[in-house]
Amino acid sequence: MAFSLPKRSDNQYRGRFAPSPSGFLHFGSLIAALASYLDAKTNHGLWLVRIEDIDPPREKVGASKQILSTLEAYGLHWDETELYQSRQSQFYDQILTELNQKQLSYFCDCTRARIKKIGGIYQGHCRDRNLPENNCATRLVNHYPIIGYHDLIQGQVHCDHALAHEDFTIKRKDGLYAYQLAVVIDDIYQGISHVIRGCDLLEPTARQLTFYKTLNVAPPQFGHFPLAVNSEGYKLSKQNNAPSISTTRPQPSLIAALAFLGQQPLKQLLDADVSEIIKWAVENWSISNIPRQTQIEFS
Ligand code: GLU
Ligand code: ZN
Repeated sequence: MAFSLPKRSDNQYRGRFAPSPSGFLHFGSLIAALASYLDAKTNHGLWLVRIEDIDPPREKVGASKQILSTLEAYGLHWDETELYQSRQSQFYDQILTELNQKQLSYFCDCTRARIKKIGGIYQGHCRDRNLPENNCATRLVNHYPIIGYHDLIQGQVHCDHALAHEDFTIKRKDGLYAYQLAVVIDDIYQGISHVIRGCDLLEPTARQLTFYKTLNVAPPQFGHFPLAVNSEGYKLSKQNNAPSISTTRPQPSLIAALAFLGQQPLKQLLDADVSEIIKWAVENWSISNIPRQTQIEFS
């Protein structure tokens, strides 16, 4: 029996931007929004927005609204009503039930400390223990380890073997849905054909591909652009003072984001309307100009 999931309807390009509302939109997330938008539009596709609000303790009040209004100020208009993951639990629960019925998942009570003690990679300790759900995490039985895949930007990606074989968590002990579960189910629900995002998700993509195989659903194509990092090598974020982006004068950040993505924006665009910059960017977008690096320092 197949899983209760929608079929992708046609061959249309459907891209997306999927921010977590744990902070306001900053330069790093602007790059993600812009790259996914431009790749979709250049390919005559649709561009969707999904708010990944499945982790209430990490959510920042007002962030969802701020992210959406910033996207609009930057001329990045999305094509369908935005999707909130917090409203998707019935679909996550359905798939969790079906995985469990097919014995493709199991409950695990191992502590973080125990896993750390055995080297940090889970070894399937609870696979055959038949534990009840109470106070347990749910793990996927990993029948399809992915040790490499083709990336639209990075080319062939090689993954860590031990990590590739891990029965990873799809629902957390504290009852929250894991990112891997929600992201895959929602990319399927939104009919996403192309995922363009930062290199911090290069490794997690292998797990997502494992999950697609388990669900017997064709995965989207993935492309990972270099991560903008500070001089210490950390991903730009609010916590480490990522340059905040102005909503009253978006031009400089837009131009900087285009340059970061290797698109060589014209200087005179600094004085152009936002819509003109976006128009220029769509007409001149070339995914092959994005540097094939996993991170680039940005200050
Ligand atoms: N919500 C994730 C983040 O903000 C991104 C998920 C994704 O693009 O798959 O890091
Ligand atoms: Zn366990």
